[in-house]
Amino acid sequence: MSLQQYIRDIQDFPKTGIVFKDITPLLLSPEATRECLALLISSLGEKKIDKVVGVESRGFFFATLLAHELNAGFIPVRKPKKLPFSTISASYALEYGTDTLEIHTDAIQKGDRVLIHDDVLATGGTAKAVCELVEKLGGEIVQCNFLMELSFLNGREKLENKEIFAAMTY
Ligand code: IMP
Repeated sequence: MSLQQYIRDIQDFPKTGIVFKDITPLLLSPEATRECLALLISSLGEKKIDKVVGVESRGFFFATLLAHELNAGFIPVRKPKKLPFSTISASYALEYGTDTLEIHTDAIQKGDRVLIHDDVLATGGTAKAVCELVEKLGGEIVQCNFLMELSFLNGREKLENKEIFAAMTY
């Protein structure tokens, strides 16, 4: 099965000039979802995972499936002022301006083995900020995985020494 047949290109979304990769056809297919999940799981080999971090909001879908499959805890990383308990935050540069992400301070214990998941690796700014949050709380990042990597945007370079896996590459 080619997973890419379940990804839909939306022209000029959310802004003119952007081609948005829409994962909702993949989510509609139990077979494609299962295959994608199996790929992400097998990329981990025998590595043990204590916590799976999902990035708001499209990262949540597979991060919860991964956490369930790996018998690990699920941690949401969210936009500012969405998480109710005490948080730390990390900011990252966008084309115009900055964005911020937050995590609960009690989500990770020192030494926890953490898997970070998001739907898309584009420029890598989002994933890098999430890595900073996890490492600030003492987590050990085992892998950053994605449904897809837009390799022409070189996001990997921002993640330097991290292990990266994507179920699809464009
Ligand atoms: P980055 O920070 O440039 O790597 O962008 C990654 C973030 O933007 C992820 O949280 C994605 O959800 C979102 N993103 C960027 N491009 C797309 C896309 O084409 N489809 C869906 N999400 C995208």
